[in-house]
Amino acid sequence: MAIYIPEEKLLEIRSAANISDIISERVVLKKTGKDLVGLCPFHSEKTPSFSVSPVKQIFHCFGCGAGGDVFSFLMKHDGIGFSDAVSSLARRYGIDLPTGDMTPGQKKNISERQQLFDLNKQVLSFFVSRLASRVEGEKARAYLKKRGFSQEIIKAFGLGFAPDEWDSLVRFFQKINVPQSIAEKTGLIVPRKNQGFYDRFRNRIMFPIFDVTHQVIGFGGRVLDDSKPKYLNSPETIIYNKSKSLFGAQAARNKARETGCVYIVEGYFDLLAMHQHGITNTVATLGTALTAEHVRLLRRGFAQKAFLLFDSDEAGLKAAQRSVSLFMNEAMDAVVIVLPKGYDPDSYMFEFGRPAFETLSEKAAGMVEFLIESAISVNGLSMEGKVRIISELTGPLSEINDHVARSIYIQYLSERIGVDESAISEKIQAEGKRAAYHQPVAQSGHPCETEPQTDGENAISPEMNRLEKHIMTMMLKFPGILPEIKKRRVLEFFSDKQLIAIGALLLEHPVVTQEDLSGLMNRLASPDDQRIIASLAICDDCWDYETGDKLLCQFLNSRQRRQGSLLNQIKAAEKNNDDTLLFELLRKKQAQRANR
Ligand SMILES: [Zn+2]
Repeated sequence: MAIYIPEEKLLEIRSAANISDIISERVVLKKTGKDLVGLCPFHSEKTPSFSVSPVKQIFHCFGCGAGGDVFSFLMKHDGIGFSDAVSSLARRYGIDLPTGDMTPGQKKNISERQQLFDLNKQVLSFFVSRLASRVEGEKARAYLKKRGFSQEIIKAFGLGFAPDEWDSLVRFFQKINVPQSIAEKTGLIVPRKNQGFYDRFRNRIMFPIFDVTHQVIGFGGRVLDDSKPKYLNSPETIIYNKSKSLFGAQAARNKARETGCVYIVEGYFDLLAMHQHGITNTVATLGTALTAEHVRLLRRGFAQKAFLLFDSDEAGLKAAQRSVSLFMNEAMDAVVIVLPKGYDPDSYMFEFGRPAFETLSEKAAGMVEFLIESAISVNGLSMEGKVRIISELTGPLSEINDHVARSIYIQYLSERIGVDESAISEKIQAEGKRAAYHQPVAQSGHPCETEPQTDGENAISPEMNRLEKHIMTMMLKFPGILPEIKKRRVLEFFSDKQLIAIGALLLEHPVVTQEDLSGLMNRLASPDDQRIIASLAICDDCWDYETGDKLLCQFLNSRQRRQGSLLNQIKAAEKNNDDTLLFELLRKKQAQRANR
């Protein structure tokens, strides 16, 4: 742990912040029995193996082994440090953190992210006030009005205006006494060549970008005329990661969860137009192509089905081609809505309205079908056209990991263009191999999907390890056995060093109440130890003294047998003068002793 926060404080925060509330903001969870389950945000999967226990206040994934408490979830999910996880929860639940014992460096660390959130909030008010100002905001207000946006939608999304000056925000920061080092980190002001700073956003309508917990993480700005660039976004900062952020996410989530589907558009105004017309389950990408992280975020936290609104031009087609595998590989249904030529969601909504749009959505084609049909309409069905169609589609089709789905699409394509199915298959397979060769790190599956994490580096037979884990679970669930464990010095026979250390801690601090489990989590410094405890604690085993005693006997016997057989082997090797084997066996024995 980077900083010292008293244990009582951690317990206070942990009990204030219900783990299911915090995780629910990021992952759709369904209740099954006492626990909640959902799709794991840490690995690719199609059926939920991610489990949250509100009673035990822990999470655990049966697929990839991730697990821990509310702090470790936030650290892993949001990519932040322990102190940030603690301080953001403390703040959210109105708990004061003692800062007296921290060094200045620690104080700085704990507060930098929070300072940026706070500052962005003040900047948001600044831009909003500029838009409202009688003279300064007049042009921008007129512009929004001309485009048809209502006062309600402007207010709901916190739209503002960056004045047509080089230093209005710079002066605002000075006025509220923001240290330059922090102001610069917002990315909203840019250093001048010689000295001083100037405003990044000038004469633009400003759109605040929120995260799912409604904190302002960045801004986008759009010009009022035809000048370039039309759109400008905040640069990435420690609180703003473009490939993980979606505009409108905070406003779209509830409706998306309710309806099971989410619309994805490209621009700020497209999004506002959709929301203003009541299609509030809409998000927008922020000047970047859709990423695997976006899709995972949407699939885990929003809905199972996506409606994509790409422009019907070539760029839109390219974007659709790139996205196919992203959706396929996250098992998210995706359909493409094609708007009439020359329209974007914004202009379409205002001209034709919601009913017409809904008719279009009903006719939306599945993503692969859309790709195939567009390739046919672009290239035609001449011989050359067919060659081009196949070569355009091999890439996207080869990236689909699901073999069944892939062969269904190949069959469709083959029938549609009258080319032999096996010929297309072969080409796609060749492409798959070529891509794999050029990209040693497979983009498809998450590494932890294939290989659950191993425990400890010393080689232990799986059976032995299973028994040790079993005993550890018992120690956790049935503190009544602890005296027996101590008496028989069971831990001394363990071979997994990590389990030995955790076991020793458990002997000292038995887990009787939920509070004790939280306390134990606090004492485990490494996330990996927390992961192990979460995985053991999540199961619902019940123990009694008799079964426990049996387990201990079984374990101690097998351990002694193993030692006995090692001794016999050593004797035999000595007798046969097999020095190499003897050396190897003695080394093993020594290792055993070292472990005890
Ligand atoms: Zn997982």
